[in-house]
Formats: sequence, C-alpha cells, structure tokens
Amino acid sequence: MVNPMIQNQLKARTSRFLSKGAIIPTPNFFIPLSKGTIPHLTPENAEHSSIPGVFFGLEECLDELANSAIAKGKSRLEDWIAISASVSTILSPRRFRPLKSVSASDSDISIVTSGGVKKLTSELYNSLVTKLQPDAVITLNDNPTSKPGVKRRPKMISRNLNWAKEFLHKQLEQERANAPDIIFPIPDLPNTYLIPMFDKLKELDFGHIKAFAFFGQPVAVPTEFDSIPRISLAPVETPHDILDALENGTDIFVTDLVTKCTDAGIALAFNFKNSESEVKLQIGINMFDISHETNMSPILDDCTCICCRRYSRAYIRHLLSAHELVAWELLQLHNIHVLNSFMSDIRASINKGSFSSNKERFLIQYVNTYPEQQALGPRRRGYQLDMTDSLPLSNRPPWKKLDDDSASANTKTGSIVVTSQTPLKLEADTTKAAADTFQTRSANEDQVVGELVDAFAAKVSTTNDKDSDSELEEELLEALDELDDTAYRSERMQQLKEEFELVQRCKLQNHMNLFTVENEKDVMEMTVKSECVVIHFFHPDFKRCKILDNHLEKLAKKYWETKFVRIEAASAPFLVTKFSLKVLPALLCFKDSVLVDKLIGFSDLGNTDNFDTAAIEFRFKKSGVIKRLKGNEYSYNNLSKIEHISSSDEDSDFFE
Ligand SMILES: [Zn+2]
Repeated sequence: MVNPMIQNQLKARTSRFLSKGAIIPTPNFFIPLSKGTIPHLTPENAEHSSIPGVFFGLEECLDELANSAIAKGKSRLEDWIAISASVSTILSPRRFRPLKSVSASDSDISIVTSGGVKKLTSELYNSLVTKLQPDAVITLNDNPTSKPGVKRRPKMISRNLNWAKEFLHKQLEQERANAPDIIFPIPDLPNTYLIPMFDKLKELDFGHIKAFAFFGQPVAVPTEFDSIPRISLAPVETPHDILDALENGTDIFVTDLVTKCTDAGIALAFNFKNSESEVKLQIGINMFDISHETNMSPILDDCTCICCRRYSRAYIRHLLSAHELVAWELLQLHNIHVLNSFMSDIRASINKGSFSSNKERFLIQYVNTYPEQQALGPRRRGYQLDMTDSLPLSNRPPWKKLDDDSASANTKTGSIVVTSQTPLKLEADTTKAAADTFQTRSANEDQVVGELVDAFAAKVSTTNDKDSDSELEEELLEALDELDDTAYRSERMQQLKEEFELVQRCKLQNHMNLFTVENEKDVMEMTVKSECVVIHFFHPDFKRCKILDNHLEKLAKKYWETKFVRIEAASAPFLVTKFSLKVLPALLCFKDSVLVDKLIGFSDLGNTDNFDTAAIEFRFKKSGVIKRLKGNEYSYNNLSKIEHISSSDEDSDFFE
C-alpha cells in the first residue's frame, strides 16, 4: 500500500494565514514574547514595525495573570500586554524553547512558571483561553523537552487528541463569535505514530483547525490537510536555517533570532535580492565594533527602516557603549525590518518559481555565522539563558561536597579523613593498596557471580574451619560450571575465584560480624582500611542500643563487603565531640573515609523500637555504604514508606 503521507512532497509555498480577520501572507515569522512584552519595543514602535504576529507562552505569565484584570474578566490578553489588534497572537501552554520539564498525565502537563514547576490542567488552560481571547491557540499538548521513550510516544498522541477534543467541545458549547482559532500540536515523532494520529484527526471536526504546530520539522500530511498552514516551533538561528525550514514546507516559523541579535548588538544585514557580489557577505554587523566610531553612514544604505533613515552607525555605537536602552530599541526596529523584507522577497521569489535558484545563490553569497559577540545585551534574565549548556559559575560557592577530595582538609565538613597534620597518615598510605582491592570488585555487576559469592560469604561467616571453606568454594565453582554455558564462563570462573579470595580477606579484617572496638584510634584506622564502614556508638545500658546491635549483626553477615563496628561512646571522647553526638544510639556511615550518613536515635527509623531491618538497609543503600540491596523483600511500596518516615526524636536516650 502506498503511504498517503509520502504522496505530497514538501516544498516552499506561498499562502495566507487567516487569523481573526488579520490576513498574514506566508511564509512569515512570529516573534516569541518575553514575559508578555515584545522585547525592546514600546507598543507604538511595535505597531510601526509591522510584526506579523507574536507567540505567547502562558507559563511565562501564569502567576502574574492570577492577580491581573484578566482573571477578573475585565480585560483580555491584547489589552493586558498592550499589543495592537493588527498583530496576531498565538497562545501556547509552554514558552518558546521551554525549560526542562518532563512529567505529564492524562489530565495535565508540568509547566515552569516564575513561581516554580506547576501543573497545568486541561480545564484551567481552556478557561484561561476563554478569558485571554488570543487570536489563535495551540491546544494543550504533551511535549517532553527530552527525547520521549517508546511508552510515552503513543500517550503523547492520545493526550493531544483528547485535549483538542475537549477544547473543541468547550468552544462549540459557548458558540462565541470571538472564539480563538485552533492550532493542533504535532509532536516530533516518526511517521509510524503520526499516520494513525492523522486518521483520528479526520474523525474530529477538523474544519475548526486553522493550523498545525510542528514541534520538529514539518512532515508531509495527508492530502486533505495539505492546505492547512504549517507553523514550525523548531528553532531557527540564521537566514540559512530559515531557507531550509521553508523548503521543508514551513509556512510560519517562530523565531527569537531577531531578539538574540539585537541583544548582542548585531544589526542584521542580509537580503534575498541576489546582488552579484564577488566577496562573501556577512549576515550581521556587530555595532559594538570600534570601526563604526566615526562612520556617519546608516547601518545599511538601502534600508528604509526608521533607524537607517535617521541615524548613523556612529550614533548607534555611541548609544550602545553608553548602555542607553534606545540603542537596542533602534536595533530591534532595524532587525525586524530586515527580516520582514527578507520574507517579502522570498514570497515574491516563490511566486516567480525561482526560490530554489535564489536560495542556492544566497548560500554562496553569505556566510552562515554571525560576527562574534563583543558585549552582553542590556539585560539577561534567567529564562533567557541557555539552560542546556550553561557556563560554569564565576563565583564558586564557599561550601563543598562531603566526598570532594579538596574538602578533606576542612575539619568543619565533619570528615574523618586523616590529614597531613595527623600521625596516622603513613598507615593510611600503606593500607591504601588493601582499600583499592575493595574498590575494584565487580561481583555486584554480575548477578550470577554476586549470588554465588554471597552464598559463599554466608557460609564462611559462620565457620572458622579453613578446609570446609575450600570445599564450599569447589562446590560453588562447580555450580557455576553447570549454570553457565556462555562464552563468558571462563571469565566468570576467574572472577568468582577472585571474589572468594576477597571474601576471605574481608573475614580476616573482621568483616561479617559486628565487631566491638575498644580504642577510638582503631576505629579511625578502620575507616581507612575498609571502603565502607558503619560505626555504632553505644551505651551498654541503653535498650535501643541493644535493639540496633541485633539488626547490625544480621546486616554484617549479609553485607560482608561492609565493615560493621561498635564502640562504647564513653571510650571515644574525641569522636563523640567531633561529631557532636549527644543522643545514643548513634550510627555513623563512612565511605572512602568520608562521613556519608549519620543516624541519631530512631527518629529516622519511624521512632519505634519495632522497625524493620530493611529500614536501615535502605538508608545504607542511599548513603552508599552498601552497594545493592540483597534479598527479595524490597518492594517499591515498602521502600517509599520507609523513605518518607520522619518524626521527632523525643523517645531517644540522651546520655550526657
Ligand atoms: Zn535599517
């Protein structure tokens, strides 16, 4: 069967976008608003600059709208942001180039407002549209900012369809004369998802759909939809990108290239008139450049914008270096004028049938990069920054991560790392090799090996007989032999042998049992010798310390890679002061000699004496002193319950 979507080839075309009485010749562009304003322009200037239309992301102003006259039904979008009725407005749930936010459900999407991440329900969106009365509206859509997985994709389609249906019903119910035009969102997904979507769309009353909004490059649509204008929300940065987008069938593109150039002090300098220039031409002129200092000619000799008719390059540069806002206003007027002329020449070229050859000529004539930016614009607000590739902070924060090596010298971080001031340093070096072997173990990455090693460790921990250990080792190696007939068998056998040796070494280091230490210096050494160490500071008469010991004894056998020790708080005055331990039992967790977690009393364990061992295990897993949870009892529900327990530690025992 012939794919109906491939039958009509996409190409540059001219048409008209009819929006609430305004007729916009296409191809054309819309400018994204910034917090509900046209960047750099007063409403009067915007009116004279013939901006075809603006794109308004609701999330940018949702919080501000709550207290505006619109919320009280006394105004509409056009009045609130003082935009002339001749400028067409498209309302979208999310801003152009939205910030990362991935979650959505069948009834809402996450948006990023000035007050943080919020849920925008279909109901709220539809009711706001009724109040705002934009000329056209992109219906609510699930459009994750990162590439969606295979499970998310069909959901995106069905949500978009359902929300459009809801919107249509609501509009038809009200039968308002000034109901906005509907723009249907088309996600950036392969045709396998889009073909069934278009089939479903045919069942809808699609006569109400005035345009499609493509989140990626436009794709060919079934013939009956071919006359519907295609709006592209894929970013275009240069005139070259614009020409490519038009060739791919875009009728209207939303672009911030004008504003970005103005911000950077760059005056656009390209046209589609195909002059016969021998040298490569620039697409923009950096107006900050010193070369304009005494140049009394306009930015472009043949430009008829208000800026070029009245002012010289020298004056624009003077304004820029004085950081006078008029500079950016004049540049914005010029840049919009250039883009308007460019689009009008393109439309003429398409109508003459010479678009392709003119495009070829343009590509030869112009470089496709802007001149280097020499200064920042007049303002730089959070949402204007490129969040995907942000620059490193110029002011380093005064605090550091606990496991940051450079932080180890700082005693305030609570780290027990032995520093050059302490005599323990030498021992730390000699035992480093031992510590390394603990870090290189890889059994946890291989479940088969991991389970056999755990079985071996369980047996080893209960016996002191060396011979029976090696018998068991043989037994387990045989078991693996039967179990594994893959090409990796010999590697696994070798790995298993190494792991068994590691188990033996751990045993020699007094792992596998809750080991009581009498001297606090020994405790400090242990945090260097073993990668993961859990230390229980106890009081011999406290009931809760005994309860905790019972749990730790079980865990010491199960998590043989981690060292479990207990020390009486009274014999560790230095550590008790250093870690400000006032309540017992206290549990300190060390990984690579750095304190990674501190459990004081039972407050984090549900403040009950009857907590499950799993509660501590989960906590250990989070801090990293155990690498993976062993056993099957870890259902998601249990874990999340444990994670959310929090209460005061009123029942714990103070020992001072
Ligand atoms: Zn100009």
